[in-house]
Amino acid sequence: MHLNILFSAGDSDWPLYQPQLATALTARGIEASLLTETARPESIDFIIYSPASQLQDFAPFTQVKAILSLWAGVERIVGNPTIRVPLCRMVDSGITEGMTEWVTAQVLRHHLGLDAAILGQDGVWRNHRVPPLARDRHVGILGIGALGQSCAAALRNLNFQVAGWNRNARQINGIACYSGDDGLAELLSWSDILVCLLPNTPQTDNLLNAARLADMRRGAVLINAGRGNLIDDNALLAALDSGQLSQATLDVFRQEPLPKEHPFWTNAKVTVSPHVAAATRPDTAALAIAENIARWRDGQPFLNVVDRAAGY
Ligand code: NAP
Repeated sequence: MHLNILFSAGDSDWPLYQPQLATALTARGIEASLLTETARPESIDFIIYSPASQLQDFAPFTQVKAILSLWAGVERIVGNPTIRVPLCRMVDSGITEGMTEWVTAQVLRHHLGLDAAILGQDGVWRNHRVPPLARDRHVGILGIGALGQSCAAALRNLNFQVAGWNRNARQINGIACYSGDDGLAELLSWSDILVCLLPNTPQTDNLLNAARLADMRRGAVLINAGRGNLIDDNALLAALDSGQLSQATLDVFRQEPLPKEHPFWTNAKVTVSPHVAAATRPDTAALAIAENIARWRDGQPFLNVVDRAAGY
């Protein structure tokens, strides 16, 4: 069987992905033509997609089996009414390991007070601060999905007390999991460090508003690597001003790039990180894509299919 696979992403992505996809497909025994454009959309079997592409109308792709997203977050495509086939989001070892490293680094940075120790060195020897051990630190994770579970496991291995919050109640080894509004309030008041790894959906919009920030433990640290829509920016700035929160490290924003005039840039309690927590890497992403295409060939269900109604 020969497949036609359309790669619809940014132009600069193609030279990076083409060799990796070719290798991964061959390794799975999949014969395919990899295309960046087509005059015959009805001949296309799979579309590899990122929002960097111009493609909006999927209706002419009448034989397509699935849209395979290069991004983990699918908010920019999930509501597209012309998609009538499964939409699979990216879950791969590269994004998962990258996010786990980034979140662990940020949690350790705040936990150990590394900024105070290494920034603004002024010749004064301050060795009187002994941070608590990880076993005495509570880390809450909003969104214990593919990424949240991996981060939670890494933090548990470092001895942090870890708890999480999901839409559906679930059990995860060693990690207390909450759901619902009451569960959220409980987790917010428990967490010394709160990590957000939720998707952008209508339900998560402004989740951390003034009332929820007020529910947080006084002096807590907020780390957001999910999506910018989760946070009410003005409420966060007010919570930082009042000391309700001590610091925020933000990797994602409502508008990206974050506009130069945004007060986050100049607020000493905010660290702006330019959406670099976990990039999609062509080598591992190609393996995940080849695996899903092989599953279709072998009559197995696709992995990581987006629940279009839930939005993630
Ligand atoms: P995932 O596996 O789909 O996990 C999402 C988690 O969020 C699930 O645990 C889900 O709960 C929970 N959730 C969703 N809506 C909720 C709601 N309304 N209330 C409570 N919990 C809710 O996704 P993932 O692969 O871990 O990725 C998470 C997000 O990370 C992505 O959507 C993307 O926005 C972001 N991301 C950021 C970067 C970066 O570089 N900053 C990189 C990759 C991804 P259930 O388990 O109950 O469904």
